[in-house]
Amino acid sequence: MHTIAVAGGGLSGLVAARRLAESGNDVTLFEERAALGGRVRSRQVDGFTCDRGFQVLFDAYPAVRRELDLEALSLRSFAPGGVICRPGKRSTLSDPLRDPGALLPSALSREVSLADKLRTLRLRRRLTSGDWPEFDAPDRSIREYLREAGFSERFVENFAAPLYGGITLDRSLSTSANVFEYTFRAMSLGNIVVPAAGMGAIPAQLADRAREAGVDERTGAAVDDVDAAGDGVRLAVEGADREFDAAVVATDPPTAHELTGVESIPTEGAGVVTQQYRLPGPELDAGTRIMLNAGSEAPNTVAQLSAVAPEYGDGSDDALLAASFVDDGVQDRAADELAAQTREALSSWYPERDVSGLEPIATDRIPFAQFAQPPGTHARLPAVDDPPGSVYLAGDYTRWSSIQGALESGRRAAAAVTADLDG
Ligand SMILES: Cc1cc2nc3c(=O)[nH]c(=O)nc-3n(C[C@H](O)[C@H](O)[C@H](O)COP(=O)(O)OP(=O)(O)OC[C@H]3O[C@@H](n4cnc5c(N)ncnc54)[C@H](O)[C@@H]3O)c2cc1C
Repeated sequence: MHTIAVAGGGLSGLVAARRLAESGNDVTLFEERAALGGRVRSRQVDGFTCDRGFQVLFDAYPAVRRELDLEALSLRSFAPGGVICRPGKRSTLSDPLRDPGALLPSALSREVSLADKLRTLRLRRRLTSGDWPEFDAPDRSIREYLREAGFSERFVENFAAPLYGGITLDRSLSTSANVFEYTFRAMSLGNIVVPAAGMGAIPAQLADRAREAGVDERTGAAVDDVDAAGDGVRLAVEGADREFDAAVVATDPPTAHELTGVESIPTEGAGVVTQQYRLPGPELDAGTRIMLNAGSEAPNTVAQLSAVAPEYGDGSDDALLAASFVDDGVQDRAADELAAQTREALSSWYPERDVSGLEPIATDRIPFAQFAQPPGTHARLPAVDDPPGSVYLAGDYTRWSSIQGALESGRRAAAAVTADLDG
């Protein structure tokens, strides 16, 4: 049996800790915050379930299927595609192969040409055949990728920019096309979902499993220093030195960069501000489809979470809406101004509806939600065993910025530690 420390209790640290404990090691997990889960968290506000920032799970992700008991999460699904919204106009665009009910409205939608719809089907066929991409193809931006595939400017601006602006937190579509290919495949093969109890149910399940495997979990315990010393590792935790046979650094990327000195760990972030609202009922006819703002940048998307997961609601007819903002300067925008922008957008999309009662109940400003992923990023990311000695890395920043990347990194880090320690 080896003694192993895991620094950071986000998704990656929880998976690494559980797997190492299951292999018979004595594992201590140090998390600086009072709660586990890292970037994936939920809380109750006025009877509503509010995730910290609008975030979703793609249930086709291979690591999601491997690491989570999806049935126990009671998943609730969004309808595929989205409603393209602009002043006075709403138009459904879906995946006719997964959502035959939306075939007619999608076919009739004039926001995107028939040629673009056929290109989407061709792309779908190509990206769903073969294995999951390894992020090693020659890279370019999502915008260049879509142009090369022949998509029109109208498709890019009206549909891809708000949809992928929401996924990559970069509406200019300058993010790596690797992220597009992986997520497009995931959306073609599976559903976009949230657990009935909120996204925080994901780390809660991983934490339960880690505890069952015997992980000693210390919350409110920040790791201040990691030093590969001789055969082992010395950690400074809350002013005291602790010795372990090995350590996995599974913090956010800037902290991992600081603790390990590994230069290839990215430190630039992509941010988002999500504001959530109570909207007096009845719910909007977008239903469980994400509303994509084709008319302006702010908000980028609006999702009616209580329609997707009634459990997110407060038990009344009122709807819970989450608006995400990714445009420049949004981190400094006042909450009142954000609410006014959402009210203005909704009343222009739904002129028949009085949305003056839209009431903000939570505003999350998250400057570092993902690490920035311009083209070429993934080829430069560190390997889990890059640090010297018995120090290892886990975290989305060793793969790509996503739940898939974080879960997969935890598995790989645990495998690397086990291979080195057990020979
Ligand atoms: C608003 C938002 C929306 C997102 N949307 C999606 C989405 O829809 N789909 C998707 O796949 N991904 C999404 N992501 C990205 C995804 O959540 C992350 O990629 C993933 O959760 C990262 O997990 P991680 O374990 O690598 O890191 P983190 O979650 O950052 O975990 C690191 C942990 O280390 C702890 N820590 C830091 N420093 C120390 C220290 N010195 N000592 C001890 N502990 C420390 C932190 O408190 C934290 O708990 C979103 C993220 C955000 C914030």
